[in-house]
Amino acid sequence: MTTNLHTLINSLEGIEIITEAAQVAKLSHDYHTFSPVLVSKLEGKVGDIAVRPTREAEVLKVAAACAKYRVPVTVRGAGTGNYGQCVPLHGGVILDMTRMQKILWVKPGVARVEAGIKLAAIDKKTREFGWEIRMAPSTYRTATIGGFIAGGSGGIGSIQYGSLRDRGNILALRVVTLEDEPRVIELRGDDVQKVNHAWGINGIITEVEIPLGPAYPWAEVIVTFDDFMAAAKFGHALGNADGMISKLISVFASPIPRYFHALQQYIPEGTHAVFLMLAEPSLELLPGLVQRYGGQITYEKLAPEAAKGTPLAEFTWNHTTLHARTVDTGITYLQSMFPAAKSLQLVEHMYNHFGDEVMMHLEFFRVNGAVVPGGLQLVRYTTEERLNEIMRYHEEHGVTIANPHTYIIEDGGRKVIDPEQLKFKEIVDPYRLMNPGKSKVLQ
Ligand code: FAD
Repeated sequence: MTTNLHTLINSLEGIEIITEAAQVAKLSHDYHTFSPVLVSKLEGKVGDIAVRPTREAEVLKVAAACAKYRVPVTVRGAGTGNYGQCVPLHGGVILDMTRMQKILWVKPGVARVEAGIKLAAIDKKTREFGWEIRMAPSTYRTATIGGFIAGGSGGIGSIQYGSLRDRGNILALRVVTLEDEPRVIELRGDDVQKVNHAWGINGIITEVEIPLGPAYPWAEVIVTFDDFMAAAKFGHALGNADGMISKLISVFASPIPRYFHALQQYIPEGTHAVFLMLAEPSLELLPGLVQRYGGQITYEKLAPEAAKGTPLAEFTWNHTTLHARTVDTGITYLQSMFPAAKSLQLVEHMYNHFGDEVMMHLEFFRVNGAVVPGGLQLVRYTTEERLNEIMRYHEEHGVTIANPHTYIIEDGGRKVIDPEQLKFKEIVDPYRLMNPGKSKVLQ
């Protein structure tokens, strides 16, 4: 350990510090393991120590010490990110935010919480008042709200509310800077975009204010289809049924449902499945729509019963990849967005073109008011070259790829780093200590 690190540790008396190598290595890891490309690139990257603040005053103290001794800082929530966002490329301090989990207040339609709280814990509290978070990743039982905002994009609920990047889905962020004398900055309105999905490169989020949605009793349903495109069309039609309130519409081409061991009895071999979370008052209208597309309802649980077992949501979004990889570690995935204008036409083309090599998994969500299928297709991985070829083919046909096989922000979903985020970085991180190496323009 360097002298600087020793001095830094000494200056942080009273704050929990972890130096034990195995534990620090664990806290330097995330779920980039879904990508064979990232696994080889990030092997052996670990921090030097981990620090666990319990309140903002401690975060300010850590920030001051890291700025003073020029030690890199990688902020971490639950470490469930998929792109190596919280794997430190240049050692230094892992700033683990998970002990900052207070709910500061809940009002009708809005809540303010500390950044390290788990998403499910927010819901538990707000549901007492009839409200819930608008959208959550399928990791909501473990992921933190700070990590979701800094590293995620959307998920369960996005069929109603769109993505985190949509105006109004984050109301305010409180951020600690990494200057010589760290400050606390409150970002509100459009200014939240300066830090939204910035992978912890420009400020430490300590508090978050988020809007809430009405907490319906959500029923869980599985519908199966003999024809894949009938399943996809049904999902699209349900998403467009404005009077029916859905929270989740996930479509899985056969053989993906075979990877869901616990649900085998509900999905006959060779069929394609659609998983739904539907507000109970909308349930009565479902059979008619299912019938129109030739589907069969094979599983239906009302909210109280659904709350008892493994939620259906934990088979969707990137949990699908997790389940598939439990059976076959040779599987990886794509992240894609089909353009609204000819989305189902392109889905059908890709489904037929790639066959079993790229297994179709769709999550319907709302983009600028339109219901669009996002793809988290499962890929039978052979080589990095072939994976790139598959992604290129999609792009050449007008499907947007958010490459999940890179740890560089600009090469992922956003293509270019937001200039406002860079400007903000210059102010809040003058020594470029925050998550260094994750942006091309900041190398
Ligand atoms: P971490 O992984 O700890 O951090 C993510 C990024 O945020 C890192 O760059 C980190 O430096 C930064 N960060 C964390 N906390 C702060 C803070 N307080 N201040 C500043 N920066 C911070 N994502 C989705 O969007 N939708 C999904 O449906 C989804 N499903 C998933 C399913 C599985 C099985 C897995 C493994 C991942 C999935 N993800 C999904 C990705 C990930 O789980 C989510 O984005 C999650 O919200 C990340 O939260 P976290 O607390 O684990 O963040």
